[in-house]
Amino acid sequence: MTAYFDQTVWVLGAGQLGNMLQHAAYPLGVKVTPVDIDADIPPVLGENDVVTAEREQWPETPVTNVLAAHKNFANQNFFATIADRFKQKSLLDSLNLASAPWQLVEENTTENQLHAKLGDRVLLKRRTGGYDGRGQHWLKQAESSTIPDDWHNNAIAEQAINFDEEISLVGMRDKNGQCYFYPLALNLHQDGILTATVAPLPRLDKYQAIAEKMLTTLMEAVEYVGVMAMECFRVGDQILINEIAPRVHNSGHWTQAGCNISQFESHVRCVTGLPMIQPSVRNTNFMINLIGCELDAQWLAVEGSELFWYQKSVRAGRKVGHINFSKTGKKNIETALDQMQPLLPERYVQTIAWLKNELL
Ligand code: ADP
Ligand code: MG
Repeated sequence: MTAYFDQTVWVLGAGQLGNMLQHAAYPLGVKVTPVDIDADIPPVLGENDVVTAEREQWPETPVTNVLAAHKNFANQNFFATIADRFKQKSLLDSLNLASAPWQLVEENTTENQLHAKLGDRVLLKRRTGGYDGRGQHWLKQAESSTIPDDWHNNAIAEQAINFDEEISLVGMRDKNGQCYFYPLALNLHQDGILTATVAPLPRLDKYQAIAEKMLTTLMEAVEYVGVMAMECFRVGDQILINEIAPRVHNSGHWTQAGCNISQFESHVRCVTGLPMIQPSVRNTNFMINLIGCELDAQWLAVEGSELFWYQKSVRAGRKVGHINFSKTGKKNIETALDQMQPLLPERYVQTIAWLKNELL
């Protein structure tokens, strides 16, 4: 037996990302074990095991203490930087990577100062803990909105960006320092939460090289190993980084259907030191996030659908699954979208219309 069969990859967190890492690693013969951070009894780790995380921040628990103490925790120091938006933005600035103009919201920061520096629409973001559009607060000069009390010292303020669209780049760096990338993905957010992704899209090809250069700069600067996602705003021909995720990312889920090596497999290969090759991409791919909807077996009857149901309890605004499609030909794409529409809640009318507009 070769060494890698004896090695377990422990994932800090047992949500859908951990489960999909495990799912992708199975055919490689790699054992991936997601760990619930609130479990009473921490796992016993082998010396040669590897630890990775599906979230950028975690409380101290018996489980996280054991995982964090392991010498093979991939990128461990970087998590603390990324999980704090102040440190994350400072890092981007220090590397000359363009992002939305910003400043720290300090004890004495006033609304007027923020508007003077950043414009009439300013987005406050909690330094830590925000996700899916939570942890945000708009300051609009026209509405005289105010900084909530406990946001002083706990938030950054960003200029509102009138972006043309939101795109993302998922890339990975292996243990030899080689970087690989998937094609840029186009993302639709509704109510601050990712609803649909399309990739590849030929009209985005011209931004691929510049985006790769930006993400390479970042991954090299922190000697990153594994998958990293870069969420961006496209403003004309300029690419601004919105935020960075040091992990597999929702806007890369399409790679499960559209690539020979998914982002989940790529991450496992990189953190375990298995050979990595440039993933190849097939077809036109789109992903629809299932947000706050009940499981519907009829999704499985739609031609070409690939369902991932996360087996979580359903709550409004909660990501509970996604469906990938990997298709060729506008007719086939249109048929699938027409079949999906009645199987989704009313608000997805907009989502399907957006997909049709981009794909047909
Ligand atoms: P998270 O995804 O962790 O909730 P983000 O910083 O990505 O936080 O913000 C969520 C969404 O809010 C973005 O995808 C984008 O649609 C919008 N948004 C974020 N920052 C800005 C900004 N500076 N200007 C305009 N819209 C923004
Ligand atoms: Mg985001």
